[in-house]
Amino acid sequence: MTIRMVGVVGAGQMGVGIAHVLALKGYEVLLTDTNPDARAAAPGLVGRNLDRQVAKGSVTAQDKAAALGRLRVTPELSLLGQTDLVIEAATEREQVKTAIFESLVPHLASHTMLATNTSSISITRLASRTDRPEKFLGVHFMNPVPLMQLVELIRGIATDEATFGAALALVESLGKTAATAEDFPAFIVNRILIPMINEAIYALFEGVGTVTSIDTAMKLGANHPMGPLELADFIGLDTCLAIMNVLHDGFADTKYRPCPLLAKYVEAGWLGRKTKRGFYDYRGETPVPTR
Ligand code: NAD
Repeated sequence: MTIRMVGVVGAGQMGVGIAHVLALKGYEVLLTDTNPDARAAAPGLVGRNLDRQVAKGSVTAQDKAAALGRLRVTPELSLLGQTDLVIEAATEREQVKTAIFESLVPHLASHTMLATNTSSISITRLASRTDRPEKFLGVHFMNPVPLMQLVELIRGIATDEATFGAALALVESLGKTAATAEDFPAFIVNRILIPMINEAIYALFEGVGTVTSIDTAMKLGANHPMGPLELADFIGLDTCLAIMNVLHDGFADTKYRPCPLLAKYVEAGWLGRKTKRGFYDYRGETPVPTR
């Protein structure tokens, strides 16, 4: 199965990053989002991120121009049906993802493979809402996509070997490394990472430390490049909460209960960097802790 053209659904931080790396490695990319602002912003964001790579010398100006030439943005989800692979990277809510796949299915070419970038939701359940569960799998990129080396590949119960092989070849063609995970809630990276972040939020909630002391402790004490609260803001607090809810529902184990303070920040619309406020306030020159 040769993948030449890839559709990407969702032009948020992940969809834009996925479109960027695909276009840079020679794939034709068709990107869509229901939000007109996200569609309008996407080419400029990819362009500025490519500029950083040009400045570092890892990408040439010609490669940048060619990549931007291969990226098209459309409001029409149905047009993505004619691509060889569609990667869904919309908001981490099962109803949102299911509705996207159900709208897309009537427009799909018979050979088109489907992938989701979900951080936690059952691949098998999402696949079952399509007409081709054997051509469906999880392709979980990490944030920021142009910089992070890993992609988790997750087979649903019906995923066939040709589909898995084609996805593995795609990941390798992007110069990235695949790790295979089984289809259990949150797979490998987020099964381990997000409960650690949730625990850091409990430490804040219970007054064990301040935002600054918790992040400093984990950076200098555990040698993490970012503190857990800084990382939560980077991932998006809505995404962190959604993943904790999937773990809590999926395992029915109280050790995964989402911290009420995390829920409170999400209720406030303080979702981290993408809304300029989370555990830190990003509206000024330097981030300021909000607690
Ligand atoms: P985001 O909030 O930055 O972007 C989500 C985008 O989806 C928004 O632009 C929104 O308008 C769009 N969208 C919502 N409903 C849509 C629909 N019906 N059709 C088309 N577009 C729609 O979120 P994100 O951080 O880019 O996350 C996207 C996905 O990637 C989620 O499944 C998330 O779990 C996963 N993911 C996130 C990270 C991370 O660190 N943020 C890492 C790996 C995977």
